[in-house]
Amino acid sequence: MDQKNVQHADHRIIDGKKIAEAIHQGVGAQARELRARGLEPHLVAVQAGTDAATAIYIQKQREKFAKLGIRYSHVHEPGDATLEHLLGTLHGLGARADVTGILLMQPLPPQIPPSQLEEAIAPEKDVEGVHPINAGLLVHNRHIVAPCTALGAFAAIEATGVPIAGKRAVIVGRSNIVGKPIGLLLLGARATVTTCHTATRDLAAETRRAEILVVAAGKPGLITGDMVSEGTIVIDVGIHRLEGPPVKTVGDVDFDSVAPKSSWITPVPGGVGQITVAMLARNTITWATHAAMRKR
Ligand code: NAD
Repeated sequence: MDQKNVQHADHRIIDGKKIAEAIHQGVGAQARELRARGLEPHLVAVQAGTDAATAIYIQKQREKFAKLGIRYSHVHEPGDATLEHLLGTLHGLGARADVTGILLMQPLPPQIPPSQLEEAIAPEKDVEGVHPINAGLLVHNRHIVAPCTALGAFAAIEATGVPIAGKRAVIVGRSNIVGKPIGLLLLGARATVTTCHTATRDLAAETRRAEILVVAAGKPGLITGDMVSEGTIVIDVGIHRLEGPPVKTVGDVDFDSVAPKSSWITPVPGGVGQITVAMLARNTITWATHAAMRKR
């Protein structure tokens, strides 16, 4: 079914592109203002190895940042780079005055433990909010930045205009970069949050209780219509390219069976993914603004 043509009296599509455009407008203006004051926002993406999806993300980010007038560089390390070498790269970027943001692309090669590299990112340049200081600030609801995908999912929920406080929110997925930070953002907004994962005994029983359901499991079509109650806000974080024919991009939610039961739903593509890139630009500007304040 063509998602754009789905018409159901009781559910509406959350337009990720529109939300992203509104964020871009603010970010573009802030970037111009910073440059006028002599500070150029500059994000450096660090990639190790040759993951195909990472290459696509970098290309998309580069194009978007060019449109927004934000400098974007790419440091590409080999797949057999040592931990010491990558630590040196991150420390070097942390020390450079012309670099205001650092993005460590994941997945990393199997020999590299992500946590050690995340801890080597200068916290005041950490645009994904993965350094323990930034993750800790999110736990305390005092964050300056948060992981971009989590911010994207949260912005999609906010865009519905439905009050979050008091709602039963169910998250599927407990990763540090997506599931956990989304749960913390919702908790900060005073939702009652349940986080499900692979050891959850009865996933459908949990998802049926949701008034807000955020799915970040990395499993195409995991959530089907029978697992969702009428009127739920459904946010699909999953992105999967299914080799055809025809080639298709789908999420973790089976859109055709879930959409008619939802009150609001994000499509894939055109939902959370669009907003995530906008949040990366916003986080980049946030740290560049902090750098400008330190210079004064
Ligand atoms: P991950 O593999 O690190 O984590 C997946 C989580 O889902 C785990 O906590 C696991 O316990 C849980 N899970 C997996 N199968 C489950 C099941 N059958 N039942 C219950 N829980 C289950 O993945 P991630 O990095 O958190 O990403 C999740 C998804 O989001 C992926 O599809 C990824 O492509 C997508 N993603 C999208 C964006 C975006 O911009 N929209 C950005 C990052 C990731």
